[in-house]
Amino acid sequence: MSASRRDKRDDKFIPTEMADVFKALSDPSRLRILYEVSKTDVCVHELCKALHMSQTSVSHHLRQLRAQHLVNTRRAGREIFYMLASSHVTELLETARRHVESD
Ligand SMILES: [Zn+2]
Repeated sequence: MSASRRDKRDDKFIPTEMADVFKALSDPSRLRILYEVSKTDVCVHELCKALHMSQTSVSHHLRQLRAQHLVNTRRAGREIFYMLASSHVTELLETARRHVESD
């Protein structure tokens, strides 16, 4: 790899944007939502029921997760279903869990 290419790659280390992702992950309720979403696509009502949280609260958390591209949505009729945005998100969650469990 040429030096200029390597420099470009180094530019992709963006601490501010990474911190925004970690901020979105730094809330137990949002982690519970992500865990539910990781099992299967779910709508906001199913999340409320599974997590015993209000729709206002779940919707608020989902907006923050969407803002950091951690969840995607799919519309089916009048329902919106949520899913993890990519395998990166799965890996982030798995790595964090392993880190905690290995201590
Ligand atoms: Zn629903």
